[in-house]
Amino acid sequence: MHLNPYGEDAVNLAAELANERPRSVEELVDRCRAAGLVVEGPFTDDDLPHVHAVLDAWEAVVDAADERERAARLNLMLAAGTAHPRLTDHTGDGWHLHYREDDLPLGALLFSLIGVGTALHLVGRGMHRLGRCAVAECDTVFADTTRTGRRRYCSQRCANRDAVRRHRASHPSAA
Ligand SMILES: [Zn+2]
Ligand SMILES: [Zn+2]
Repeated sequence: MHLNPYGEDAVNLAAELANERPRSVEELVDRCRAAGLVVEGPFTDDDLPHVHAVLDAWEAVVDAADERERAARLNLMLAAGTAHPRLTDHTGDGWHLHYREDDLPLGALLFSLIGVGTALHLVGRGMHRLGRCAVAECDTVFADTTRTGRRRYCSQRCANRDAVRRHRASHPSAA
């Protein structure tokens, strides 16, 4: 997974992992690979609690009350999780930037990748483009990569559910 200018793959991986937290490091590795991440460094059981801590910090970015708070929380993640940028061609498919040391354990790698990917997403597409589903009992997180930037639901299913509910609320006799 290379960081594209909009950080889309990395921020989507963060949302996917936050919405369904991995229960073992093997599951984490499988899901990272399925998302296109080259996991070539070491991984141990210690990476799992590390990744949960990274996702806790990331969800705090999602749940920030406003843009300034969101930026401040993400800046803390970047300060703790990234190193100076460097060029690498480690995967043999082209030079790209890493914001981390080489050969980091998986937890630390994800800390850097998720922090930088989220930063690129927010500054590239808009600071408001992280959120939780508008259906009250659904707290699924999403990164809004739509053209209009007005996404409100995690899925079409939740959008339909809310539309039915709003229709019923405005036509009480039809219930
Ligand atoms: Zn790379
Ligand atoms: Zn939902």
